[in-house]
Amino acid sequence: MEMKVTENHNMGGHLSTSEGLDKTPENAKKFGFKSFQIFSKNQMQWKAKPLDESVVKSFRDNRSLNGIDSVMIHSSYLLNTASSDEELRGKVREAFKIEIERADLLGVDLLTFHPGSFKEATLEVGIRNVASMLNDVLHSEQNVRVLIENSAGQGNSVGKSFQDISRILDMVDLKNKVGVCIDTCHVWAAGYNISTKDGYERMKQEIRDSLGIEKIMGFHLNDSKKGIGEKTDRHEQIGKGTIGVDGFRNLMMDATFMKVPMIMETPMGEAGYMQDLENLNVIFEKGIA
Ligand SMILES: [Zn+2]
Ligand SMILES: [Zn+2]
Repeated sequence: MEMKVTENHNMGGHLSTSEGLDKTPENAKKFGFKSFQIFSKNQMQWKAKPLDESVVKSFRDNRSLNGIDSVMIHSSYLLNTASSDEELRGKVREAFKIEIERADLLGVDLLTFHPGSFKEATLEVGIRNVASMLNDVLHSEQNVRVLIENSAGQGNSVGKSFQDISRILDMVDLKNKVGVCIDTCHVWAAGYNISTKDGYERMKQEIRDSLGIEKIMGFHLNDSKKGIGEKTDRHEQIGKGTIGVDGFRNLMMDATFMKVPMIMETPMGEAGYMQDLENLNVIFEKGIA
């Protein structure tokens, strides 16, 4: 029996909104995706014009029409929640609240953000800054779940280990509004060897011990241009990078995460997803090792 990753897993990809945000659910369906990710606004700008009511309605209608399981918004890259700069924190706070508002308006399930960099402060301060930002912006009426994305460990980034992330979550008051998104390129860059059975199991044990498996609510599925432990965030097409197709076997064959959205953010985007999916299917063709 031939198995396809799109049938077996909760597969998805980051989709462009250039033809209209409300066109994305249809687009997702073309790839056989059950889930997908978008930016709800320009990811490099602070400001955004309010969402058009007709676009919101059309997005929600198209989503249910196309039977989409989960939608994830990736928040703006400008939201450095780990920073100690008060002026910047003010801007981040306002922009983060708007991201949550837009996510709820669109009815999306997940909002992922990079914790950011503590710059000249310490990791300890950075961790506290991220938690305090979350306590400022999260509120009990929101529907969207906010996910902390693990970092590649570049510069003074917060979140390169699951212990870091769990210390943030420990300080968050509204625990049922937060979760974690694992980027495979980032864990690889941070030194977790997910390509071996041992390395993968060690990572999973670390997750169990620090966060709990149920906190993992999303994946970014990317191969890596750079080597393991190089602390550099450079995504590559699935199977073309240093993780390689076989490197994804442990994760893809793990029943624990098969229902969790797995969103590809590979460099070719929509032009590359069909090939990415084909490369993942090879894992099934070879069977369970
Ligand atoms: Zn990512
Ligand atoms: Zn990345």
